[in-house]
Amino acid sequence: MHVGFIGLGMMGGGMSSNLLKAGHTVSGFDLSPASMERHAKAGGIVAKSAKEAVKDADVIFTMLPNGPDVEHVLLGPDGVAAHIKPGAVIVDSSTILPKATDSIAARLKAMGVAMVDAPIGRTSEHAWAGTLIFMVGGEKAHFEKVLPLLEVMGEVTYHCGPVGTGIRTKIINNYMSIVLNVLTAEALTLSEKFALDRDTLIKVLMGTPAGRSHLTTSYPAKVFKNDVTATFMLDLAAKDLGLAIQAGAAEGVPLATGAAAQQIYNIAQSHGHGKEDWTAMLVNMRELAGLK
Ligand code: NAD
Repeated sequence: MHVGFIGLGMMGGGMSSNLLKAGHTVSGFDLSPASMERHAKAGGIVAKSAKEAVKDADVIFTMLPNGPDVEHVLLGPDGVAAHIKPGAVIVDSSTILPKATDSIAARLKAMGVAMVDAPIGRTSEHAWAGTLIFMVGGEKAHFEKVLPLLEVMGEVTYHCGPVGTGIRTKIINNYMSIVLNVLTAEALTLSEKFALDRDTLIKVLMGTPAGRSHLTTSYPAKVFKNDVTATFMLDLAAKDLGLAIQAGAAEGVPLATGAAAQQIYNIAQSHGHGKEDWTAMLVNMRELAGLK
């Protein structure tokens, strides 16, 4: 396929190099001369502008820093959307606000231009290795058109639903993993103050929701089945959280994630969920968010 690729940085550089290795023609553009040089060395066509990069392309990738960059490149004063071949599909793999994706996709649709959002799980080293995870939002026909290219650049591709669902999946994924990063660092720091053996600790954690996640353990066993009769009472979980916070304070370890969680446990208790299963936290959160 003839691919236009705009944004050949840490991610885009690796992704486009794998398209080239697989025999696709890649016409690339980036504001950075160093990225353009690397693209040329990898065998890519060096376009002098974004407009030139897209003019013969069947599929156009954007891998840019943020929403305003994507909007500027596609729909700005010299935007490429007005210059693409009929039937070409735009794939935005940048991490941007879902509302920006919605707005860009709607404006493109009004011009008769198809777009899918295909943000990425994993990092630049996987981009170079061709082992990315794609979360794709878009119409089935558009998804199927770009799938062979995604398969060259990645290991796993999920079609999440209509346009905008890819980036929403990605935001949720990042929210969980980024907050868990802080929680993990807090827990390991407290364990070091306790002088625990880390390998043994990790073995213990990997046998419980701490290491295995609530998604694969407690939630499917209880609240996903609409069963919040207590197997481990939310009141007791709140008590144990208090113990950890007290121990952290005594050891001089700030447990800010735990302190924020404690507020939510207090709310759940005051809303009558204390005697229920600790997975009733999901019920509590849905109520707070106004979900029926
Ligand atoms: P990067 O800064 O290395 O690459 C962005 C590239 O876009 C740069 O080379 C820059 O010169 C180019 N650029 C900016 N404006 C441009 C324009 N108007 N025209 C042409 N080129 C332009 O960043 P990255 O790490 O490749 O990340 C790109 C996107 O992917 C971001 O949204 C990021 O959040 C997301 N992402 C990054 C990773 C990662 O591990 N690095 C992982 C998943 C998702």
